[in-house]
Amino acid sequence: MPIAVISTGGTIASTDDSGGDASPELTGSDLVDAVPGLGDIAEIVTEDFSNVPSPHFTVKQMFDLAERVRAYDEDPSIDGVVITQGTDILEESAYFVDCCYGGETPVVFTGAMRNPTLASPDGPGNMLASVRTAKSDGARGLGALVVFNDRVAAARDVTKMNSMNPDTFRSPEFGPLASVDEDRVRWQRRPGERTPDYAPDPAALDNEVHALTATADMSDHGIRAAADAPALCLAATGAGHIPPGIIPALEDLREAGVPIIATTRCPEGRLARRTYDFPGSEATLRRLDCHFSDRNLQKTRIETIVALAADSLDEAFIRPD
Ligand code: ASP
Repeated sequence: MPIAVISTGGTIASTDDSGGDASPELTGSDLVDAVPGLGDIAEIVTEDFSNVPSPHFTVKQMFDLAERVRAYDEDPSIDGVVITQGTDILEESAYFVDCCYGGETPVVFTGAMRNPTLASPDGPGNMLASVRTAKSDGARGLGALVVFNDRVAAARDVTKMNSMNPDTFRSPEFGPLASVDEDRVRWQRRPGERTPDYAPDPAALDNEVHALTATADMSDHGIRAAADAPALCLAATGAGHIPPGIIPALEDLREAGVPIIATTRCPEGRLARRTYDFPGSEATLRRLDCHFSDRNLQKTRIETIVALAADSLDEAFIRPD
């Protein structure tokens, strides 16, 4: 049965054909035609969703993408879905889809770090490994996956680690779910718990949700700028710690009813609940009735946007007391 390839743009679809530096131009069928032998392993249908650099992608487009994934899941003639995207925000759209999709049909995001006009472009190999993964029974019901450099990762774990190197998508702490060895997908572990299957109201998706990283002796300007925001996502230092100078601004936000969703700025680990008790420790976050997130800052923001639009913030994140 066919695999649906949805192309959205990014480096994998970029050429310098129109002069100057590369920008997205290739269609889904161009991408598929560039992979030797792909037709021998699967029948492919293509859909051109967009052709943009991924930093141009909006949360509304992420919602529409999730809708397309759901439609393919309901189509019994489709075996799996591969989505090609620019790598810059790929982890955010993959996580958005993960948050809104509870189906069984495999969904794989991929892309490239070197466009097809450069020496050793990585797009064709990533496409081949993605189609193999989308055809694998082991990928069924796992939510959104990301396949890069022959590694299969869960959307909730994976992050872009290197701005230029093709070996960029890694899952800190927990590692990949599988690796693609020649024509075999070797599953090594199951992902942790699934994200709730949210049903957001598309009209309520609000990109005004702020995201801020705590830094040493920071000013409170960024926090005060969130006074009218639907929520503030805050990556605290270490196990959930902030400079004491920003506590009054956070108190003001809470008094104004702005939810604060805290996570750690460390690439591995999560917020402590009851290890420290000093001004600005996780005890302060608890006193402020913050929500605690286990995802990185960019994915915490995506889940906050989706959960607010589904009226499910308390289902999404715990508030330890
Ligand atoms: N450098 C990016 C990429 O890998 C550009 C983008 O995200 O669209 O595709």
